[in-house]
Amino acid sequence: MRFAGVAKRFGPVTAVADVDLTIEPGQFVTLLGPSGCGKSTTLAMIAGLELPSEGRILIGDRDVTSMPPAERDIAMVFQSYALYPHLTVFENIAFPLRARRRRMSNEDVTRKVRDAAAMLGLDQLLDRVPREISGGQRQRVALGRAMVRTPTVYLLDEPLSNLDQQLRVQMRSELKDLHQRLGATMLYVTHDQGEAMTLSDVIAVMSAGRIEQVGAPRDLYDWPANLFVARFLGEPGMNIFEGEPLDGRLRAAGVSIPLPDTLPDAPDPLCAGIRPEYLAVEPADTAPLLGTVRTVEFLGSRSLVRADIGATLVTAFVSPDIELAPGQPVGLGPSDPCKVRWFNGRTGAAI
Ligand code: ATP
Repeated sequence: MRFAGVAKRFGPVTAVADVDLTIEPGQFVTLLGPSGCGKSTTLAMIAGLELPSEGRILIGDRDVTSMPPAERDIAMVFQSYALYPHLTVFENIAFPLRARRRRMSNEDVTRKVRDAAAMLGLDQLLDRVPREISGGQRQRVALGRAMVRTPTVYLLDEPLSNLDQQLRVQMRSELKDLHQRLGATMLYVTHDQGEAMTLSDVIAVMSAGRIEQVGAPRDLYDWPANLFVARFLGEPGMNIFEGEPLDGRLRAAGVSIPLPDTLPDAPDPLCAGIRPEYLAVEPADTAPLLGTVRTVEFLGSRSLVRADIGATLVTAFVSPDIELAPGQPVGLGPSDPCKVRWFNGRTGAAI
């Protein structure tokens, strides 16, 4: 599946600007980004619910840009599962197969529904109506309804967001398992990065209608292409220190980080990025970062420390055995120099 130069404008609002994205058959790809960045609009264009203002969309080698939704060989699962309240689980799953143009025999319908229900663990619930089953089971019915159509592509728009935390985590692994068993292409939309990280082969991080970076979850986490991705990914995101390169160090108030040899022509301003788990407490007189502790949260296996370093509020995961108190001066530094990332402070691009 491919987006080539796809844009969508609603009057003066550009919801999606110039998206290029290729999805290989069988991949699980997630569009991840903050609210309003254009994820749902992108999905709606593949589904055929919105017409692009520019560009083409291809599924396989078919140009589907202006094809009606029913002809696209896709199935969509929404966050509000949109089940028919008066129909049984069986009839809800069977619904797409009853469409006149499919002309499927009752036997075939029954077989397909039973196969899907068995895969989703819904076999015992086929005679119930939606209000008689749980939220997670309803979500599975919505998936079953998509599955019976054996589509080439599944589109999933925040399908787990109406579930409570425990059920979300459970459904997340069920969905991953289902993807492996079906081998279908899945395009998933979420603003929950935990979901995106665990489910996806590939994540496309979006902001303001554009794709900022596309890659495997680990690559995006380790090598963000720019400051937006660095700050957006991670809970909490990467700490960013902006300063001036001077005498082999990045310098700013409270900041003096050695520059690597691989960075001879450092731009000014220059930014260093360090993830909270790669900051360690160091003696204040020699530490690359010097500041004041703001808060300390004990998390069991580690503590989350927030400290003011110059104008930057920094977060660090440190050993819970280190005693720190709010208001106390603290020295911090990268625990592994190889984990420091460098960015052009003007453009935000990784160096
Ligand atoms: P969320 O995570 O909140 O669902 P999203 O990333 O899916 O957000 P979209 O729903 O795609 O974002 O919206 C992208 C932008 O386009 C937003 O600024 C939104 O207000 C705007 N937008 C979406 N649909 C329309 C519409 N029909 N008319 C006008 N503007 C729209």
